[in-house]
Amino acid sequence: MTVIQKLKTAKHPLISVEFFPPKTGAAQDIFTKGAVELTGLKSDFVSVTCGAGGSAAGPTLEISKRLRGLGYDSVMPHCTCVGMSRAELARSTDEIAAQGFQNIMALRGDPPRGEKLFKPAADGFRYAAELVSFLRERHPKICIGTAGYPEKHPEAPDLKTDILHLKEKVNAGADFITTQLFLDNRAYFEFVEKCRAAGITVPIVPGLLPVISLEQINRMRTFCDFHVPAELLKNLEAAQNDPVQMERTGLSWASEQISELVEGGAPGIHLYLLNRAQTAFYPELFACLSRVRGR
Ligand code: FAD
Repeated sequence: MTVIQKLKTAKHPLISVEFFPPKTGAAQDIFTKGAVELTGLKSDFVSVTCGAGGSAAGPTLEISKRLRGLGYDSVMPHCTCVGMSRAELARSTDEIAAQGFQNIMALRGDPPRGEKLFKPAADGFRYAAELVSFLRERHPKICIGTAGYPEKHPEAPDLKTDILHLKEKVNAGADFITTQLFLDNRAYFEFVEKCRAAGITVPIVPGLLPVISLEQINRMRTFCDFHVPAELLKNLEAAQNDPVQMERTGLSWASEQISELVEGGAPGIHLYLLNRAQTAFYPELFACLSRVRGR
């Protein structure tokens, strides 16, 4: 079943997890351990990010196959336009489809480190909407996910304009939206309201980072913009010298976020676990995820 079929038919909000292809030996070990342990979460689907260089037929596809081999039945490789011509995107996405993957997360991707502006590859795409349209035509049956930004994409002049561009991706054939991480649920609820007012009707799945430290927040803020609520910041700062308390503070916050999102009608929860299984198995968070799944 594709992700959109699951979103439309599930009796409970979906739980999904994002993995990223490890680059170093140590990261490889964390990934392997995390991927095995996270089968215990019984997520409804998992996605695999696509690193700089773009090619989804490289590490992203390899990791997607490994996850399928571990028993994850719905795996969604990400695909970006970075450094990819149309011909390369055609080859790469044909390979994904030929390997039996039925879902693709279609993204523009970020400019390479140190560069401010995104430059499309020769004969490549400038915006994700073009990739979505290309995929929809080439693989009519594939389920296409796309990215949404509750606190707006950093390059967009304002949220209204960004939502108009998001609508272009949906009009081009995207089946659902997964959001950038946010720590204040108001950002998600207001975003959904604005998307609906703009005529976007597809499911909007909130993406959540269960925070484990202040340092992690600061690292994430170097590549995406999000507001840190004063209460969370105060509690994390108070636990500066106590990593266990810091983690407890962040994961309790995530549990409360999830409960409120689900009560507010979110169709799923997409977890940015950064390949770490222990985050999902923190008792309060795991209990909360189990309630979401009705277990
Ligand atoms: P777009 O939708 O093309 O938007 C990019 C910017 O262009 C926005 O500011 C938008 O408002 C603007 N824009 C769009 N269309 C137009 C237009 N016609 N005219 C003018 N402006 C326009 N990055 C990776 O490298 N690999 C990943 O695997 C990855 N996975 C992600 C998963 C999720 C769920 C999310 C939320 C992000 C992910 N990213 C990933 C990050 C993403 O690639 C970056 O945020 C990137 O900068 C934008 O990608 P996009 O697909 O949203 O681009």
